[in-house]
Amino acid sequence: MFESLSQKLSGAFERLTRRGALSEGDVDEALREVRVALLEADVALPVVKDFIASVREAAIGEAVLKSITPGQMVVKIVHDHLVQALGGGAEGINLATTPPAVVLMVGLQGSGKTTSTAKIAMRLTRRERKRVLMASLDTRRPAAQQQLATLGQQAEVKTLNIIGGEPPLAIAKRALQTATLEAFDVLMLDSAGRLHIDDELMEEIAAIKTATKPIETLLVADAMTGQDAVNVAKTFQDRIGVTGIMLTRVDGDARGGAALSMRAVTGQPIKLLGVGEKLDALEDFHPDRIAGRILGMGDVVSLVEKAAENIEQAEAERLAKKMQKGQFDLDDLADQLKQLQKMGGIGDILGMLPGVAKIKAQMKNAKIDDKVIGRQRAILSSMTRKERKNPDLIKASRKQRIAAGSGTSVQEVNKLLKQHQEMARMMKQMGKMGQKGLMRQGIQ
Ligand code: GDP
Repeated sequence: MFESLSQKLSGAFERLTRRGALSEGDVDEALREVRVALLEADVALPVVKDFIASVREAAIGEAVLKSITPGQMVVKIVHDHLVQALGGGAEGINLATTPPAVVLMVGLQGSGKTTSTAKIAMRLTRRERKRVLMASLDTRRPAAQQQLATLGQQAEVKTLNIIGGEPPLAIAKRALQTATLEAFDVLMLDSAGRLHIDDELMEEIAAIKTATKPIETLLVADAMTGQDAVNVAKTFQDRIGVTGIMLTRVDGDARGGAALSMRAVTGQPIKLLGVGEKLDALEDFHPDRIAGRILGMGDVVSLVEKAAENIEQAEAERLAKKMQKGQFDLDDLADQLKQLQKMGGIGDILGMLPGVAKIKAQMKNAKIDDKVIGRQRAILSSMTRKERKNPDLIKASRKQRIAAGSGTSVQEVNKLLKQHQEMARMMKQMGKMGQKGLMRQGIQ
């Protein structure tokens, strides 16, 4: 899957070879190719437009890290935006409600709805030890109900007994009643499909939704259908409302577009992928993995991440030098806090600096957690550059302005300034100690 898109994108980025910050020209040229690639991969036009605009904004002016090319830098930015556009972290099926949690499966005929219903039911039964009941509401296709019953036997999941001639809404109500009475954890409803969207189908599903109040309405869509899948997603979202998407036939030669635009068009996460006909051919959706596959450039992305780590190392060394000279201003503190937050741990970054066990212990005592760091960063960014370089300027009225601008209080601003003073003082001391140490070594 996604090969054609990745090939296109690699071509686009090879041409960017100049160094320095990314210029508008660099970015626009690369993004022209990205745009064509996305369109050819069947991503819907409005989705492409939005995507390109957001990447462009982020990329222009971005500094190119040492040891990588500007092209590689754009790849990383496009990759990060793809991950974001595809929906951040992996999300599982939501069953957080009073049992039975109803999961309604919707989609066109042939999308893989019935197979997917059984796949999910089997996973919930085996992995999460849930008691699952399945029911087919497809009374149009003669063998549909029987098909689900057969899959149920294979998956060892119970299906609602079939009553000939019973209309879909009545089946749904009976299924819910049975699941409630027999204390099932989950009820999976496999709704009827059509070859094309029609009003009758939409009304039928809407009525079923009203009667059974599903916590999840999963749209099953075939990844191979490209643009059509987008129109289907839009209609289901507008008329019924879905809470997630299951993309099937991802094992095939599908183009990447469907994943990106279905997510964008519905605003709902892609939750699961169908990767084969067998009942265990079910995978969680990992946006980062898919973005890597779309770009086909996983190694470039990790290369850029490594280069960014090196920058952090260089930054730590620069700071160590400033410490020795006793120049640690609020800009440095802001940099530090930013890095701390990014690295998710105070120990790591301080560990890069020589001889800071004492500060480390002090900071631990001060219980600097992520939330505090976030507020402190807000305070710092509400200061002017001049104020950060020369904290003595910050008197009462400026403190009030900074507190208001950062949504904090004057007390918090004071606390931060005091903390900075202490850090600067200690760093100066340590710097002197370091120099003495060196001198001693020189004398011996
Ligand atoms: P429904 O009409 O939407 O209920 O579709 P079915 O569940 O009957 O599936 C139609 C066909 O697609 C069947 O032959 C399935 O085995 C096949 N199918 C479903 N999901 C996948 C998948 O993820 N990968 C592949 N390769 N085939 C699938």
